[in-house]
Amino acid sequence: MLRAIVRYGRPSLHAPAEPVGEITDEIQRLVDDMIDTMYAAPGIGLAAPQVGVALRVCVIDLSVGKRGGELITLINPEFVERDGMQLEDEGCLSLPGFTATVARPARVVVRGRDRHGAPRTVEGTGLLARALQHEIDHLDGKLFIDRLRGLKRDMIVRKVRKLERAGRW
Ligand SMILES: [Zn+2]
Repeated sequence: MLRAIVRYGRPSLHAPAEPVGEITDEIQRLVDDMIDTMYAAPGIGLAAPQVGVALRVCVIDLSVGKRGGELITLINPEFVERDGMQLEDEGCLSLPGFTATVARPARVVVRGRDRHGAPRTVEGTGLLARALQHEIDHLDGKLFIDRLRGLKRDMIVRKVRKLERAGRW
C-alpha cells in the first residue's frame, strides 16, 4: 500500500526516530509499504520518518526495483566505518524540486538488522554510500539541506516557505 510522503516542515522529518524493538507484523507492513512507496515515487531510498513514522527503518534500491537483489532494508542501522570524501548533487523525496551539492564520506560500513531481525552489514561506496548516509540522516531528523552552508540552505528554505504560503507545498 502506498503511503503519503511528507515534505520538509512536517515534525517527523525534524526529530530523531526511535529504535525498533520487536519486529512485529506492523513493522512488516511498514517495510512493504515503504518499498511500494519508494518504487512508485520513484526514488532510490526512503526512511520511515518520510511517511510520518518515527521509527529507525529505511529502504534503499539504487536500481529502483529494476534489478533483483539490490533492495536493502535496514532496521536500526548504525555506522561502523566512514572514510574519504565525495561531492555530488543530492535531492530528496521530501524536498521535491530542490537539489544541492553535498559533501559526504565516500565509503561507509553500516550495521543493522534486516526485516527478519537478522544482523546485516552493508558496505557502500559512491552513490550507495551517499544513499545510506542520506537515509540514516533522516532517522536522526536531518535533511540534506541541514548539511549545507547557511546561504544555500536559507535560499531553499525561503523558496519552500513561499510555496507553503501559496498553498503549493
Ligand atoms: Zn530524503
